[in-house]
Amino acid sequence: MQLSQRISGLTAGGSDGWDVFYRARGMVADGVPVTELTIGEHDIRTDPTILAAMNASAKGGHTGYAMVPGVGDLRDEVATRLQTRTGVATTRDNVVITPGGQAALFAAHHATCDEGDVALYCDPYYATYPGTIRGVGAVPRAIVTSPEQAFQPSFVDIAKQARGARSLLVNTPNNPTGVVYDRATVEGIARACCEYDLWCISDEVYDTQVWEGEHISPRTMDGMAERTLVVGSMSKSHAMTGSRVGWVAGPAPVIEQLINLATHTTYGVPGYIQDAALFALNEGPALEEKVAAPFRRRRLVAQGLIATQNVAKLVPSGGAMYLMLDMRATGLSGEDFANRLLDAHQIAVMPGESFGTAAAGHIRVAMTVDDDAFVAALTTVLNFAGDLV
Ligand code: PMP
Repeated sequence: MQLSQRISGLTAGGSDGWDVFYRARGMVADGVPVTELTIGEHDIRTDPTILAAMNASAKGGHTGYAMVPGVGDLRDEVATRLQTRTGVATTRDNVVITPGGQAALFAAHHATCDEGDVALYCDPYYATYPGTIRGVGAVPRAIVTSPEQAFQPSFVDIAKQARGARSLLVNTPNNPTGVVYDRATVEGIARACCEYDLWCISDEVYDTQVWEGEHISPRTMDGMAERTLVVGSMSKSHAMTGSRVGWVAGPAPVIEQLINLATHTTYGVPGYIQDAALFALNEGPALEEKVAAPFRRRRLVAQGLIATQNVAKLVPSGGAMYLMLDMRATGLSGEDFANRLLDAHQIAVMPGESFGTAAAGHIRVAMTVDDDAFVAALTTVLNFAGDLV
């Protein structure tokens, strides 16, 4: 039986530079101790107070079908949070709760792109972006950024690709680079969206992990609130990756349609998970800072270590749980470097090539192991790089 083109063509095929990742996973399965600095999963678990709230909610009976758009109090709380952080007027009518940021990314593209429409995204990119776009029948078109501009897309970069496109997906703080878009970049994004009549899909799942600079949402720019869909998530901010709870925030008429989509796809998010998310958000910035603190700390240590050598160069980044290192001075591709490192030292990092073409010759290091293991691993990575030149 033949499957739809939409599903069989979802991924582009090939390994996309993920061989190193799967090889490391295979080694772990075979009992080899590998230090995995690969994916964006915290080394702490969900806070016990959040789990207690989840448990109390489930025991209290919130285990039936929950409100499809999201529990009213949670929608209110997300709206308040966005309004407080950005100054843009936001109510529950601007918010739909989704099973995580990934479902929100899919929903946002589904709402904005028709079959065959061009949807823009920036390279380097979070792994699922092109597949998510293809998944709604749209055609992904990359805006290839450059290391020389710290991987920030300029107005000109966007404009070159924008003609005829329907949407522009941006992500700040950025995965994989850790770069926090500066005001000029966000202004350029807003200008391009307004001039080329693009929807802006703004992936802000790392908005609580900013170490330098400030998080600026494109939704705050003139004329952008009516064309921006913000993707948010509890995964990174509250170490709730497995709970699958996030949201889309945007214009009320879009949210109305997304609620309709949720009715016909996910049928909402479990009530006890939403209650746990509500509890977590009510705890305020202190809990978010507790979750972010290890990355803030490790990044500082990493900066010190990186400053002691001149082979690996740190991409000027200010957020998220990753470091992007430019390894081009070794003469190796990111993939070759990562493979050799894995073989020699059982340390797994992601090659820049896993995230498109722009970050070739780079590696992404996730700061997701405890401090001692992180320092030891990064020291080994830097020494290994030094020995190659
Ligand atoms: N966007 C980015 C940039 C991410 O890094 C991730 C997860 N790694 C997601 C979205 C999806 O996160 P979740 O579905 O867990 O909210």
